Amino acid sequence: MTRDAHVPDHTGANSLQLEAVTKTYAGVAAVEAVDLDVRAGEFLTLLGPSGSGKTTTLSMIAGFTAPTSGRVTLNGRDITAIPPHRRNMGMVFQNYSLFPHLSVGANVEFPLRQRGVGKAERRRKAMEALDAVELGHRADATPDQLSGGQQQRVALARALVFEPALLLMDEPFGALDRGLRERMQLEVRRIHQQLGVTILFVTHDQQEALTMSDRIAIFNQGRIEQLGTPEDLYDRPASHFVATFLGESTVLTGTAESGTLTLDSGQQVSVGGHSVTGPARLVLRPERLRLDPQGAPGPSLGGRVRDVVYLGADRRVEIDTEAGLVIVRLSADVAAPRSGDLVHVHWDPVDAHLYPAA
Ligand code: ADP
Ligand code: MG
Repeated sequence: MTRDAHVPDHTGANSLQLEAVTKTYAGVAAVEAVDLDVRAGEFLTLLGPSGSGKTTTLSMIAGFTAPTSGRVTLNGRDITAIPPHRRNMGMVFQNYSLFPHLSVGANVEFPLRQRGVGKAERRRKAMEALDAVELGHRADATPDQLSGGQQQRVALARALVFEPALLLMDEPFGALDRGLRERMQLEVRRIHQQLGVTILFVTHDQQEALTMSDRIAIFNQGRIEQLGTPEDLYDRPASHFVATFLGESTVLTGTAESGTLTLDSGQQVSVGGHSVTGPARLVLRPERLRLDPQGAPGPSLGGRVRDVVYLGADRRVEIDTEAGLVIVRLSADVAAPRSGDLVHVHWDPVDAHLYPAA
């Protein structure tokens, strides 16, 4: 890819760093001391609940919001004070609409026109970008002649046409219905693989984050709670927040001491391998639980099946145990229990996540 002259790229890579970046509004931190190292070519997602600081972080990367303190660097160069139009970043936001009075082709040519690219070159590059989102045949249409999903694809072409150092996307598919959203997710993944552009993506939708990302940064109250691959976060959540935000789980509370958790309901289960002592929360993933006969080795809880829901590849089983409701997912090819059955829920100690109760 050729590089725009505004931000020289000496390394051929487009890595971005945030160093202790903080943004406060009236003394309250929206983003607090965030460190982030985005690797060249990766697809990194900022995932977190509403108000956790994702948009503010992206806006400081884009240059629309000035950090209260900290530094943003692109390829080793401090860009904290560089205005947005000189950062060479493509942007696709939920409400970042097309120019209604311009044709689709002219919309995509617009960033090139701003950069003084000649007419023939502009047309050629705009057509290439439109072809990449499979809308080359609609170059002469106006935006209002396109569906919502097609308009978002044009916005994507417009963000990619000048070969940006980084593509920033803030909840870009939030307004689309589910089927369209899933097609757009696959489309963006394909473009990412095909063009090798570095993408920073914001969503509050965990499924979208798991589907699309090389790595995910989980935001909570203005801080990054954990950064890792989808597998890291799902299988080795570093905190109770991450464990319960990403994926379904059962949380049981109790008091831990010397490798044993005494649940609030009185049962004791082994939590060997965890060093937590005192008030604690046990987090269990539904698909890591089994229904084994009573007396099978390892920690377990007895209970009665409340409900069984068939979901195609697996079944979701709700069990009322003495310790509370426990959710189990069983592969559809193992025998299903029935409502009212007495069962024993078992798990391997390595699949039990234990956290100090906040
Ligand atoms: P997210 O994108 O994760 O939903 P935001 O970054 O938009 O979160 O917001 C983080 C926090 O900062 C919120 O508490 C929000 O109310 C606050 N905030 C964001 N922008 C402003 C602003 N311009 N003025 C005051 N507070 C703001
Ligand atoms: Mg936001």
